Amino acid sequence: MLEYDTVIVGAGPIGGYVAGKIAEKNNKVIIFEKNRQIGTPVNCAGLVSPRVFDFLDIQKEKVIQNTLKGANIHSPSDDILTIGGNRVHAYAIDRKKFDNEIIKKSKEKGVQVFLENNVLSAQKIGEYIEITTSKKLEVKTKLVIGADGPYSKIRDRFILPEPKEFLRGIGAEITNTNLNPEFVEIFVGEKIAPGFFAWIIPTNNKGTNARVGLCTNQNISPKFYFQNFLKNKNIKRFFKNFKIIKYIGGVIPLGFLKKTYASNVLIVGDAAAQVKPTSGGGIYTGLVSADHCAKVALEALEKKNFSSQFLKKYHKLWYADIGMELFLGMRFRKIFKNLTDNQMDKYIKKFQNPKIIEIISQYGDIDYPSKLVTPLLKKTPTLLRLIPSIIKEK
Ligand SMILES: Cc1cc2nc3c(=O)[nH]c(=O)nc-3n(C[C@H](O)[C@H](O)[C@H](O)COP(=O)(O)OP(=O)(O)OC[C@H]3O[C@@H](n4cnc5c(N)ncnc54)[C@H](O)[C@@H]3O)c2cc1C
Repeated sequence: MLEYDTVIVGAGPIGGYVAGKIAEKNNKVIIFEKNRQIGTPVNCAGLVSPRVFDFLDIQKEKVIQNTLKGANIHSPSDDILTIGGNRVHAYAIDRKKFDNEIIKKSKEKGVQVFLENNVLSAQKIGEYIEITTSKKLEVKTKLVIGADGPYSKIRDRFILPEPKEFLRGIGAEITNTNLNPEFVEIFVGEKIAPGFFAWIIPTNNKGTNARVGLCTNQNISPKFYFQNFLKNKNIKRFFKNFKIIKYIGGVIPLGFLKKTYASNVLIVGDAAAQVKPTSGGGIYTGLVSADHCAKVALEALEKKNFSSQFLKKYHKLWYADIGMELFLGMRFRKIFKNLTDNQMDKYIKKFQNPKIIEIISQYGDIDYPSKLVTPLLKKTPTLLRLIPSIIKEK
């Protein structure tokens, strides 16, 4: 049976990134990916902050489709709150190309990638974990990294906790749109996307192509809402005889795991629900965590220490970095989930005040939404009424 220094399950952006980081220090690394192609099917709206590229050694021009400076937030009764517009807040990326570029770089660093190999079992035998795939490949390693997405098998196999919540997403790439190319359109409301929101992201600088989609709470099928959304009278102004190019789907795990390690095992990215609860974005937070994961993995390999006690360091490091932001994100989400359409209308109206808009535009950060809280509370003390529900757990 072949032995690897590290086996990574899942060739998404997070698995690909961690693999490259470990292999560049001359370690023997293999990734098993169940799909036939990297980055396919696409399960993402492809909106990321510029920070994402600080982690990656890929050419960003190859994957960036459009630059976004602000957002129009539409209340249930279609009042519009316009924020930003003054600087680049995000990029729309081609997710398939993005994933492929990351994997290409990791292969250049020596990572072996085996596609169409669904990891079926991972068993601790003595000092090793033995892995078997659907193609009957068998390998052994002292370190397995589960980067295998929302329904992680590695997480389940090693009895780690589950994410608190799963959102169901649906979307499409469309053409013939009539959008401001620098602004994302966001729609909230019980009838639009219960428990979350819908989006239209312009994917070219003419505003004629877009990715449109929405997520709903776990028990509600998003399909029905998506069909209605495309017919919604408030949305029609953005679409003139639009054409659907392809559909997008997927699941977003929320509520990070309280434990992301076990003896010989680390869990990272969506598998660990390292996802922003306010937006569902997991690429930036996954990469932040992946960086800590790779550092601790390298230290474990160097010291030949794969004990749970040692690997706990990874959990502590990523939590110290973004744990509080994700924790607060779940609290904000709780408030958001409990708002009625009337309350959303009320708050969006309240925020249509030039001074508040200025604060949101200045402090708003898609990766760190909590940065907005203090300046916003100073300006709008009535929002303090929401604080008890942030602090108290239901
Ligand atoms: C509708 C939707 C919209 C989104 N929009 C955004 C956005 O705009 N911005 C953003 O930052 N994030 C967004 N996300 C989240 C983002 O897609 C994820 O956070 C990101 O893909 C996480 O990367 P990952 O590598 O951890 O997991 P994944 O990308 O899910 O990769 C996991 C990989 O593991 C493979 N795998 C799973 N099980 C096995 C197995 N047993 N054996 C072998 N391989 C396996 C899978 O096939 C997959 O390729 C969105 C998600 C959805 C569903």
